[in-house]
Formats: sequence, C-alpha cells, structure tokens
Amino acid sequence: MEKESGLDTNNLKLIFRHISDLIFLIRVVDLQHYEIEAINEGYLAHYQTTKKNISGKRIEEFLGVDQGIKAIRRFQEVIIRKETLHFEEAYTFPEQGYRMFDITLVPIIEENTVANLIGTAKDITEKRINEEQMVQSEKLSVVGQLAAGIGHELKNPLTSLKGFLKLIDSENSNQDIERYIKVMDTEFNRIEQIIDEFLILAKPNKIHFSHYRIDHIIEEVIELLNAQANMESIVLTTEYPDIPSQVYCENNQLKQVFINIIKNAIEASRDGGRIFIKIATNEEHIQVSIRDHGEGISQEDIDKLGSPFYTTKKNGTGLGLAICKRIIDKHKGRLQIDSSVGQGTEITVILPINFT
Ligand code: ADP
Ligand code: MG
Repeated sequence: MEKESGLDTNNLKLIFRHISDLIFLIRVVDLQHYEIEAINEGYLAHYQTTKKNISGKRIEEFLGVDQGIKAIRRFQEVIIRKETLHFEEAYTFPEQGYRMFDITLVPIIEENTVANLIGTAKDITEKRINEEQMVQSEKLSVVGQLAAGIGHELKNPLTSLKGFLKLIDSENSNQDIERYIKVMDTEFNRIEQIIDEFLILAKPNKIHFSHYRIDHIIEEVIELLNAQANMESIVLTTEYPDIPSQVYCENNQLKQVFINIIKNAIEASRDGGRIFIKIATNEEHIQVSIRDHGEGISQEDIDKLGSPFYTTKKNGTGLGLAICKRIIDKHKGRLQIDSSVGQGTEITVILPINFT
C-alpha cells in the first residue's frame, strides 16, 4: 500500500483524539436509522450529553429525539444526492445551551450505495457572535456619521423656522391661527427632539467625565418626564438608598440613558400604570432598575433590543436603546433586561462606581 505522508494507525488515532473539531463516522442502517460508529470522544467531552460512550449508539441517543430527526434529515439529503453537503446548523446541549456548527457531511459510496457518512462539525458560536457585534457597531458608526451630517444641516433651518413662528405668534390675534401656531410649535419641538437624539449618536467623543450623585441625575430625569407621565396618569415612584452614592460619569449622557429607558417604560404602560425606579449600591456597583407593568417583551424579541432601528412602535425610531447601550459601554457598565409578556419589564443599568 502507498505510504501517505506518515499517516499510520497510531498517528491517525492521535489526530482523531486531539483535533479541535468534532469528527464522526456514521453507519447507515437504512434511510431512517443511523448509528455513530466512531466519534472523537475527547472533543465530545466539551458537550455534556446525557449518555457516555456514544460510539455504537443511535444518533437520537446523542442529540435527543427532536434534534436527532433534524440530523437524520440532513443524512437523508446526502444519501439521496450522493454528494457532500455543507451547512450551518444549531444544536442545543443540556449544559452548553445553544451552539452553532459549521458541518460537512461526506457520503462514502460502496457499490453505488451509501454505507457510511463522515462528518465534521466546527463550533462557530463565538465567531458568529463576534461577527454580529461587528455588524452592530458598523451600523452604529454609519448611523453616527449620518447623524452628524443631517443633524447639523437641519438645526439651522429649524432655528429660523422657530424664530419666524414666534414672530408670527407675537403679531397674531386670530384664534384659529393661534391654534395652528400651537400645533406647529409642538411639531417643531418633536423634530428638534429627534435631531437631538441623532446628535447624541454623532458626538460620542466630546464627553467630559466627573463625579455626580446618581439620585440627582434620576431626579432631574424624572422632572423632565413627569409631564408626559402625568398626561397618561402614570406615576413614577422612586426608592433610593439612605446614603447617596456618586457615580463617575458624563452626566448628560447618563441622563439620556435614563430618559430613553423611562420613556420606553411609560410608552409600554397602560394609563394609570406605575413605574418603579430603584437605586441600589454596593462597594463596586450602582444599579438603577426601572420596572414597569406594561406589555412586556417576548424572549425572542429581547435579543433584538438595542439593534439600531429595531422598533415595534408606529412612531418609534428604534434608536433609544442603541444609544443607551453605547453610552453604558462608554461607562464600562452593562444593561440587564428581564421581561415577560403581559407582566412587564425591568431594565437595570449596572455601572461601576469607579473606573479609569
Ligand atoms: P423606540 O422606543 O423608538 O421603539 P427603543 O430602542 O427605545 O426604540 O426601543 C426598541 C423597542 O424595544 C421598542 O420598540 C419596544 O418594542 C421594546 N421595548 C423597550 N423598552 C420596553 C419596555 N419597557 N416594555 C416593552 N417593550 C419595550
Ligand atoms: Mg424608546
């Protein structure tokens, strides 16, 4: 037999045991039944399955019935097409949870039938997560550049429009026109507010950090939002620790975070709802949690929160939480979201007290 670059049985065993991908040999019993003939169990040890010594067992015993069926469909595809199949597929394991794999299945054809399949599976979960984060930050920086340009361009004409509206208002005595002026004023303010939101995205670098009392920041935010809350008979209640804490932050940016989160809570609440804002501290962190009893968010949608432009609202921008995330990142903090549909949502901002 031809000697293939040092691949004797011992070397093969060594490679098989230590390679960092999952490699498996499947015996095709018939179209519905498959046995794992060999698998590099060393690597497999990363994936806690219910059964040990998986060689010789049916595929369902390794992956569970539902996931077994999913794998069998792929096997059948390879057998019918008699071609190598390359695909990405997610499997869930009792301890590791959701993992994404890059899988190749190769049919071994003997006398025109597929007797075995050789498979390799590479765990690409982390790679995918990193790629998604890259896309996210790319999106954000594009938004930032757009925001800078558009924001500044819009500010000037808006200022002159507002000025002329004031002039008209001061010289007007007609009641109908007075009403129109009011509407125009409200709409101008809304436009201005959207531009300001954009500009926050655009100016992430011009920030000045200092020590501020967190309860003062929250009080100022509540003052800003109370009018909106009152209009919908929503009550904002607060709970502060006895000893006030300071947080090292850019206070205007941090205010923006709480404005966005509390606004969302108001928008998710029904008339007459209550929103609890609680500050808790320990030696290292300050936690501010905002809890509402509004519509809640499904588990599936929680993952989408914070993606720029993700919104479920008719007039939403989908920028609120994206901005929050960006600012909180800058403060070396993190955002925690707990929610259940129909019960309500709790958003917690966790900030380190001191960081350099
Ligand atoms: P916008 O408020 O413009 O929609 P955000 O980024 O602030 O954008 O929020 C994105 C989405 O997250 C909202 O459209 C909503 O579906 C969901 N969301 C955020 N906060 C809450 C909350 N407290 N309760 C329910 N859904 C929320
Ligand atoms: Mg919002």
